[in-house]
Amino acid sequence: MNNEVAKSDSVMFNNSLISADDALAFLLDSSIAASRIEVVSLDDSLDRVLAGNIQSTINVPGFDNSAMDGYTIALDDHQVSQKNLVFNVVDRIPAGSTGNELKMGCAARIFTGAPIPKGANTVVMQEECQLSKDGTQILIERPIKLNENIRPIGNDITKDGIILSKGRKIQPQDISLAASVGIGNLEVFKKIKVGVFFTGDELVEPGNSLTPGKIYNSNRYALVALLKQVGCDVINLGNIEDKLKATCDALESLSNQCDLIMTTGGVSVGEEDHVKPAVEKLGELNLWKIRMKPGKPLAFGKVKQVPFIGLPGNPVSSFVTFCIFSLPFIKKMQGNSHYESKIVKVKANFECKRAKPRREYARVQIDNSSETLLANLYPKQGSDVMSSVVWADGIIEIPEDTVFEKGTILNYYPMNELTR
Ligand code: AMP
Ligand code: MG
Repeated sequence: MNNEVAKSDSVMFNNSLISADDALAFLLDSSIAASRIEVVSLDDSLDRVLAGNIQSTINVPGFDNSAMDGYTIALDDHQVSQKNLVFNVVDRIPAGSTGNELKMGCAARIFTGAPIPKGANTVVMQEECQLSKDGTQILIERPIKLNENIRPIGNDITKDGIILSKGRKIQPQDISLAASVGIGNLEVFKKIKVGVFFTGDELVEPGNSLTPGKIYNSNRYALVALLKQVGCDVINLGNIEDKLKATCDALESLSNQCDLIMTTGGVSVGEEDHVKPAVEKLGELNLWKIRMKPGKPLAFGKVKQVPFIGLPGNPVSSFVTFCIFSLPFIKKMQGNSHYESKIVKVKANFECKRAKPRREYARVQIDNSSETLLANLYPKQGSDVMSSVVWADGIIEIPEDTVFEKGTILNYYPMNELTR
């Protein structure tokens, strides 16, 4: 979406309640995927996002090899499927070496991963082979088929095949696959830098004692941890004085060094809320009231050309709006092609008798003792009850404007999906 469209659409949203789906779609449209690339070693590539497709230049395995410790045999046509055959053992092939060509009717001791020698056409595991006392012959009582226990060339990966796709967040198994084709470095998107600060004269840093009317600043620690967990570099200015000048200075300084600016709290319209006028002064701001619970206010805009997201102040609202809106936005910015959270279908172990105008993102635990996953609500769902998030396995979507019976299937997001 270009800037012109973004601006006019957002004006349309202003001052009215918008649906969570519209807000997310708008945010995702505005998120511009990373283009800056760097090269990192495999050891440094975990959780980074691949900047290009990875193609294999080799077959894996690169040669037919044995899947077992045992004996490889050059079976004659008439020996196929015959019982009680005896073979002369003429060679020994450990992994990492190559054997000599095997003549028909002969066998070679072979170990897992060793190349199948020319002439051989099957492998029998050692437990099924009786070795003669002098070690020169084996007897196999059961009938033997061709191509037993042979891992053929290219069984895992074929030369020129794409093994990992651009936009993939690199996991340990991906690193293994890249290493298996001999790739030692990967091109990834550069980490995005997120600048954060916090407002609110009621906030005290943990470790200090509280005076009347004050509370500890918990959002600061939640937001920094969430950003780090999703692989962002964080520039944290800490608490900023509730003054317009101080807020403008903080925003201006972050806009010169960051790809995204985030704050929590202070986006309401009270006279102590300076984030809104400061962002408006330096760029543009759309303050949305989203038809959701917890949450409701979410600020989105730009400081100079840097995107800005202002999360609400209540800890649960701040956490949930980060998960539902900011995380997909950030993942898209990071170049991750799977930026939308995966939905799991679960059965609500509760009913909804009165339709609610706002979609609820309720904290639930999952009971997996029966065939369908069953979601149980935390009894207190207030936007100030952070214990509900700690207790929860994930978040269930209670659709707006809907009544439903116990046992209805709803959308559910496991906490792992929502936070990384
Ligand atoms: P606000 O959006 O600034 O009006 O804040 C809404 C509520 O969230 C108030 O009760 C604030 O005290 C609380 N709050 C705001 N910022 C934080 C924070 N960083 N940590 C914990 N609570 C906060
Ligand atoms: Mg405040």
